Amino acid sequence: SNTKRRQLVVGNWKMNGNRQENAALLAQILSGWPGQSPVQVVICPPFPYLYQVRDTLQGSAIELGAQNVNEEEKGALTGEVSAHMLADMDCKFAIIGHNERRRLQGETDDRVARKFIAAQHAGLIPILCIGESVAQRDQGLHLQVISRQLNAVIEVVGLDAFANAVVAYEPVWAVGTGKTATPVQAQEVHRHIRQQLGQYAESVRVLYGGSVKAHNAKELFALPDIDGALLGGASLDAQEFLTICSAAI
Ligand code: PGA
Repeated sequence: SNTKRRQLVVGNWKMNGNRQENAALLAQILSGWPGQSPVQVVICPPFPYLYQVRDTLQGSAIELGAQNVNEEEKGALTGEVSAHMLADMDCKFAIIGHNERRRLQGETDDRVARKFIAAQHAGLIPILCIGESVAQRDQGLHLQVISRQLNAVIEVVGLDAFANAVVAYEPVWAVGTGKTATPVQAQEVHRHIRQQLGQYAESVRVLYGGSVKAHNAKELFALPDIDGALLGGASLDAQEFLTICSAAI
């Protein structure tokens, strides 16, 4: 962590929850989180629950985010949700290019870049996810893969778009597996990401994601180039979530 950059913890609920569970989880989180904090906290619920989470978070310091956006502005795109709709629902952030979408929904680097633009165009802050597979790491290709994924977006959106964006390093082998990158592995990649960002190297917040839990958050947040976390599983448990948010202070 670095005192020049505000620490950020993002909870990605993925496809989990229902109205009753959401209400209970949010009540616990809100009772444990102060109105003002040096740490920025964001929750990204599934689309059907945006209304519920938005209303529940009203007046709190916790902000709303989306898990995905469609890159088009509007039109005949059954089942899709535009960035403008999400901004209209008071979302402030949008996760872009999560590896589950790249792998399971076939999102290409180019489509990820267009989603990034659509999000910013609507006033959302993109949280751009990048990360290598286990095979790529085993072959020592992780830094090359990170560069390719990041540059594919930079080429389309331009470096200046990173004046208002967040990057999340999420090694695919660490997401949902209980295997966290070691501090040395994470720091190496985070530094590498910054080196691609030119004049924004020291201002962009770079989050780590992949099995961050209450017990390992502190040592990750202590690293100079890690500015917080993108959480999956740990964001579904209020105590775990609050402990991680506090560890970022
Ligand atoms: P995880 O997910 O914390 O459950 O590993 C992280 C993510 O997908 O952002």
